[in-house]
Amino acid sequence: MAATKAPSNEQVYKVPLKVLVDRSENKVVFAEASKDFVDVLLSFLALPLGTIARLVAKESNIPPVKLGSLSSLYESVSNLEEEHLWTPTCKEMLLHPRSSMESYYQHLKLNIDDTDPTNYFLCENLDCSRKPSGSLLSIFNNQRCSCGKLMNRIVSPENNTLENGFVKETATFIICDDLSVLPNILVTSLNLLQKLGIKDMDAIEEQTVDISKREVVDLLKLSMISKSPLTDFIFEKKPRVDDFNPINESWFERGEESSDEGRRIVVRALVRKSNKKIMFTGAEEDFADFLFSFLTLPLGGVLHMLEGNSSLGCIDKLHKSISELSPDRYLRSQRLKEELANPKCATQFTISGQILPIGEVSLPVYYCNTFFDGVRHTFALSTSTRTPYYDYDKNVRLEILDGKSSIGDFWIGKGFAKGPSTFMVTDDLVVTPMSSISAVSYLNRSQVPLSDLEERVISVGVKEGLAILKASLTSTSALSNALQQFTKINELENLSTISIL
Ligand SMILES: [Zn+2]
Repeated sequence: MAATKAPSNEQVYKVPLKVLVDRSENKVVFAEASKDFVDVLLSFLALPLGTIARLVAKESNIPPVKLGSLSSLYESVSNLEEEHLWTPTCKEMLLHPRSSMESYYQHLKLNIDDTDPTNYFLCENLDCSRKPSGSLLSIFNNQRCSCGKLMNRIVSPENNTLENGFVKETATFIICDDLSVLPNILVTSLNLLQKLGIKDMDAIEEQTVDISKREVVDLLKLSMISKSPLTDFIFEKKPRVDDFNPINESWFERGEESSDEGRRIVVRALVRKSNKKIMFTGAEEDFADFLFSFLTLPLGGVLHMLEGNSSLGCIDKLHKSISELSPDRYLRSQRLKEELANPKCATQFTISGQILPIGEVSLPVYYCNTFFDGVRHTFALSTSTRTPYYDYDKNVRLEILDGKSSIGDFWIGKGFAKGPSTFMVTDDLVVTPMSSISAVSYLNRSQVPLSDLEERVISVGVKEGLAILKASLTSTSALSNALQQFTKINELENLSTISIL
């Protein structure tokens, strides 16, 4: 008897995507899509970079993809011992960063973000949530309350509504090969045909492909590395990985001078004189934190900061589409359009003293409403107080416990990396606790003669910070590519003392 393939126990949800292809050139002309597909495409912009690094490292129909230095940064965080971070929650926050827009895409049928949605927790000790003041609320499970017990009593906020995606229910769209999303009107499609210079209309064929989550992951990968993701996807072409687009100095000069004020981080880089490559830097926890924070930045917010010049596949095109879609007919509201074009970090996911111009969404003030029905207490989370019915009904204003804080502080405003300490950061943003022995071994492995090394002191402000962020997306020499133009030479007189670290 022939063995039959076991049916998958999970019902795979599929969305049909109609694609117009040019058979003579093996190219996609455009695709026609409705809400299900466009919502998930737009959700890419709301994903934090750490989530993207995690998703593209998975198998799908195409092999795992590495993104510049972002993937090695992500891996170094997953290899980092928890003792180098303020709390065990910190590591979880960096490896599974939340999106400030999770409520928009969490229940989409093609949602690929497997991060757990935000839940709310009170202390397991009932008395803690009935104190007149100073009661804590946590948005991560199993943090420590100020009383020392675990915060693991789940409470649901009232009126916690999930939004239905980003675009209007009945709207339909044209998706270009480069993932530009355009309104589905005849003149747009005719313009595209003209622009592509299609001569042989007989070679144009219609094709329908089923899109499940697996194919969405394919498209996420391709959107990061290819200039023609739909063609590569349909014709299973190997994407041509475009060369790194070097930092264009004039791009930074366009910024106002005032943007260079503000906090700066000092790092010491060990540079090869012969090729100006940064071997590694020694830096304090603030620089490690700055790099860790990349994982929590939403892609759309990053593209906004880089003014649409990310050089990352064709994702700039998808981002630019938002500005051209009208909230009257296509996007669900003007507010949503603005949020999606420049999403902020999720609550508690920014670091204090962040040098990049990115904000964080804040939580409303929550109250714990306690009711006693004569037998037991019931707790409810609400954004308003209610009139107590009995003497023992209470409304307690809750303080939010920071996931990055150690025991029981509700706001201490630290970052992720525990200090004071020194970290070693390689050119591809592998962050490890500094050890002189591993630094020397690293130099040995790289076979760089000591006479070819010099130390440079680099002061990282917003311009340099943006340059590192931009380079991290596409280059495995992120520090060298970003900082070469900014470094101040501080040649060492005697390199036999590697005490500079
Ligand atoms: Zn407690």
